[in-house]
Amino acid sequence: MAEELERSIRSIPDYPKEGIIFRDITTLLGDARAFRRAVDALVQPWAGSKIDQVAGIEARGFILGGAVAHQLSAGFLPVRKKGKLPFQTMEMEYALEYGTDTIEIHVDAVKPGEKVILVDDLIATGGTAEAAVKLLRAAGADIVAACFIVDLPVLEGRKKIEALGVPVRTLVEFDGH
Ligand code: AMP
Repeated sequence: MAEELERSIRSIPDYPKEGIIFRDITTLLGDARAFRRAVDALVQPWAGSKIDQVAGIEARGFILGGAVAHQLSAGFLPVRKKGKLPFQTMEMEYALEYGTDTIEIHVDAVKPGEKVILVDDLIATGGTAEAAVKLLRAAGADIVAACFIVDLPVLEGRKKIEALGVPVRTLVEFDGH
């Protein structure tokens, strides 16, 4: 299964800058069988358990998170880049290679104690997912797991999330950045 998923992901060298290999999941999304398999595999450990909400990280995490939420009969909660959400928000800043970025959720997006699964397409350094876990917890969420199609193990993002006490599920690993 991992091989089939791996083949369905397009790798683009030196995008968006030299030295980065961009793992493009639009080819996976466009392959009906691969898309279904990826969504099924992401949720498989939680099929049958009560999950209240799936939090997807903008933007590719929205596509996967929506499908995962539907599969688990859960709600969907968008974690967005700063300035995009219309109602009152809570935010979390996190470090990038150069500078910082900020993600936001609506103040009423989570009810205290709700069981939430975090979803994105890929975990690299884990900085984005770490900020999302901290933000969702600050809002009262019980983060059950964080799920990604792709892991870049050399960047050790998984360890960062596991160190927060959150189990991590990934489906495919790629070498390099
Ligand atoms: P990080 O915070 O370093 O874990 O970066 C994760 C975010 O950046 C995810 O939303 C990914 O979609 C995106 N990202 C980072 N590296 C790559 C890559 N090599 N290919 C595709 N997306 C990437």
